[in-house]
Amino acid sequence: MLTDEDIKRIRKEFPILSREVSGRELDYLDNTATSQTPLSVVDEIKRIYTTSKANVHRGVHTLSQEMTALQEESREKVRKYINAESIEEVIFTRGTTEAINLVASSFGSRFKRGDEVILTVMEHHANIVPWQLLRDRTGIVLRVVDIDDKGVLNQEQYRSLFNERTVMASFCHVSNVLGTVNPVKEMISFAHSHNVPVLVDGAQAAPHLRLDMKELDCDFYTFSAHKMYGPTGIGVLYGKKKWLEKMPPYQGGGEMIAKVTFEHTTFAELPFKFEAGTPDFVGIAAFSKAIDFIDSIGIENIEAHEHALMEYTQERMMKIPEMRIFGTAPHKSAVISFLVGRSHPYDLGLLLDKQGVEVRTGHHCAMPLMDRLDIPGTVRASYAVYNTFEEADTFLKALTRAAAILE
Ligand code: PMP
Repeated sequence: MLTDEDIKRIRKEFPILSREVSGRELDYLDNTATSQTPLSVVDEIKRIYTTSKANVHRGVHTLSQEMTALQEESREKVRKYINAESIEEVIFTRGTTEAINLVASSFGSRFKRGDEVILTVMEHHANIVPWQLLRDRTGIVLRVVDIDDKGVLNQEQYRSLFNERTVMASFCHVSNVLGTVNPVKEMISFAHSHNVPVLVDGAQAAPHLRLDMKELDCDFYTFSAHKMYGPTGIGVLYGKKKWLEKMPPYQGGGEMIAKVTFEHTTFAELPFKFEAGTPDFVGIAAFSKAIDFIDSIGIENIEAHEHALMEYTQERMMKIPEMRIFGTAPHKSAVISFLVGRSHPYDLGLLLDKQGVEVRTGHHCAMPLMDRLDIPGTVRASYAVYNTFEEADTFLKALTRAAAILE
């Protein structure tokens, strides 16, 4: 378990945490939307821009070779972080959203009218809309798994949705609203027993849980660097080589070709076939420092600390009159979505902001889940490794005050 001294040392890496909001020290509890970035990542971005910037994979000159090496070292670091078989299975994208669009568009090009894709009601729009776009093009059918009162997926229903028309299942590892950690290993294994490939949206798992692609055995896994103490605009698509090799390119352009004539083009080897154009190579290189940061603390230590904060907070929140917490699954990550009585989430959010507490309000890009819960939105507090129990207390005090005002 991380000590107070450990957290103090970690916080020194994040200068933003000592800024003020509304005249009070910042209490940043919007880590599910994006986490803050340590100096090691920021310094690496600055170092590259000031000493080493050159386009990757295109030159024989020293700077280009150096930059290419940095980008490819980062790919290897990501491979190791998720325990993928090879770097050919690690594709850099702009984020989770682009990674899922890539799969829906490219892998989905083999689907036919009437084929069925299984989703769940707790998905982020990033794992709904790409499949709807595919539905509009091809006539596939979307089937949706429901949740119970605690925000746990109905596994019986999930299993009952599989039939001879099922071609894909796509669901989140961790819900960005409910915090529910889904039993993805069992769900993948069940899908595979029906020969159905699986995409796991890991945007909310990659910053908090140990990932092992070989053990999970999923076909695709997606996540974003900006939620993992890394730079914005970078994401990862992990895909099994056997699928990636068969899939058509998602975008065409430079980097992704072997030979181009006006008559015919052949494509580059993996992973470059799916990386058209100049990537954010500076961000990709700096992402490797974010993984170093996580590794230096230990992902299990991060998870244990955040979980302790979440349990501490949730337990005390329940004592506030009219508190409604959405998502109380037994296996839950450090996300707390809530409302107080009939008050609107924006009112609560504004009253918290006035007390220096930064939480997210709204539908959290999960409108179908809001409809299912029959609410317009929630307030959401979420923790990262640098958050403290003092911050949890500040939040609880601010929330008690806001709830009393809105009563
Ligand atoms: N899926 C989940 C579960 C998320 O929480 C998010 C980000 N809120 C996304 C997908 C989309 O990630 P990005 O905006 O980085 O592409």
